[in-house]
Amino acid sequence: MSARVLVVDDVLPNVKLLEAKLTGEYFDVVSAMNGPEALESVERDNPDIVLLDVMMPGMDGFEVCRRMKENAKTEHIPVVMVTALSDTADRVKGLESGADDFLTKPVNDMSLFARVRSLVRLKQMMDELRLREQTGSTFGVTPTEAETDNGPGKILVVEDREIYGRNLMKALEEDHDAQIVTGADEALDVARGVELELIIVSLTLRNTDALRLCSQLRSAEETRQIPQLVLVDDGPQDMHRLVKALELGVNDYLIRPIDRNELRARTRTQLRRKRYEDRLRANYHMSMAMAVTDPLTGLYNRRYMMAHLESAMQRYTREGKPLALMILDIDHFKNVNDTHGHGAGDEVLREFAGRIVRGIRGIDLAARLGGEEFVVVMPETDLEVAGHVADRLRKSIAQPAIHSEAAGQDLSITCSIGVAETISGSPDIADLLERADRSLYAAKNGGRDRVVLDDGAGPAKPVAAAAP
Ligand code: GH3
Ligand code: MG
Ligand code: MG
Repeated sequence: MSARVLVVDDVLPNVKLLEAKLTGEYFDVVSAMNGPEALESVERDNPDIVLLDVMMPGMDGFEVCRRMKENAKTEHIPVVMVTALSDTADRVKGLESGADDFLTKPVNDMSLFARVRSLVRLKQMMDELRLREQTGSTFGVTPTEAETDNGPGKILVVEDREIYGRNLMKALEEDHDAQIVTGADEALDVARGVELELIIVSLTLRNTDALRLCSQLRSAEETRQIPQLVLVDDGPQDMHRLVKALELGVNDYLIRPIDRNELRARTRTQLRRKRYEDRLRANYHMSMAMAVTDPLTGLYNRRYMMAHLESAMQRYTREGKPLALMILDIDHFKNVNDTHGHGAGDEVLREFAGRIVRGIRGIDLAARLGGEEFVVVMPETDLEVAGHVADRLRKSIAQPAIHSEAAGQDLSITCSIGVAETISGSPDIADLLERADRSLYAAKNGGRDRVVLDDGAGPAKPVAAAAP
């Protein structure tokens, strides 16, 4: 992970030390030696994370953090407060000023890298999300709401020592919906059953192999997205376990005795991360769906239809099978808008699309070409059969009349349809569409409310006259 870290400290050796550690792990490091310099740097250097000393003459770390979080240009950059050991009051103040995490001096390498990586990953996700939200809004799509970011989280605690468990629950229950279990089987059951947002696992469970549990949670499909926070004692054997846990993909850790504020801060960071990730995924699915469907009717859009037709034609001509296509166009649709308004027009389009979908087979593909023009692609269908399908659709549009709430009445709608079939051995999309279109034009000229088949040569001929 290549990321830029801004180190802020008024003591030069402190800056140099962090710089050396981070550069050794291939981070790109910039530094500042006081508050105002730090604020300039965050705007100029675009860091992915800031390691901020609390005690500095003039403007202290809290003030720098507060100003960063008030500035729309810098509020999304994670801030790690570097404080003197066990200074609980500092931590609370740091949280209040908007800090994302804490490190205690002297800074331990393992926690430094774990925290920096975790927060940089979070920021990269946020950056990506903001980018997609921008892209989405240019398409007129409202992305999933961001407001749930600070709501209560669904948390599972796995701890089998009663006092520890009780304290954890006391610290969490105030802000979150937390539940506690004492063993791996129970934990897996709960994790599979409810949508958890964080699992806190004690690495010192007495009757369960906690590392194994972490690994199972990471590998199972239903639980792999849930962040894990582990708790360890402060001994050499526990450090060994912690290293293993981090290798297994645990997201963060706390060392006992657990500071209540630190627990809450780390919980908050993990919940935010999880929620950003969920939103990214939801937006991704939405933009995938958006890219291929027409928002008004839910049918495929022109772009998707063309791509589909391309591969379908290749395949069916290669296999020597027929493929037919029809273009449907609503008759005098402009009148609907003019007489009853655009809202009524939209209702008609939606119902029109619905009747098409209900009247075709599963392997047929319906798309909205644009405006009041639709296409149905029918694989393994010859011209004659396609003509029957088209006529059935034509009738289903004409009767019964389409009800419009906006117009306050039923509207009699008809459509004209042009049908064409691939010429054997020639997968030419443009030609196929052109022949279908020419037939449609003939249907319009012939009086509308009718189907015209393309015979592949010469002028198109009508097969079905207007219904009486
Ligand atoms: P014809 O029988 O020759 O096809 O006549 P027509 O009025 O259906 O055709 P024309 O192409 O003149 O008009 C199509 C109308 O469709 C014009 C346009 O405002 C309307 N339209 C296109 N897209 C939409 C839409 O998304 N919603 C609504 N309500 N109207 C639309
Ligand atoms: Mg029309
Ligand atoms: Mg038209």
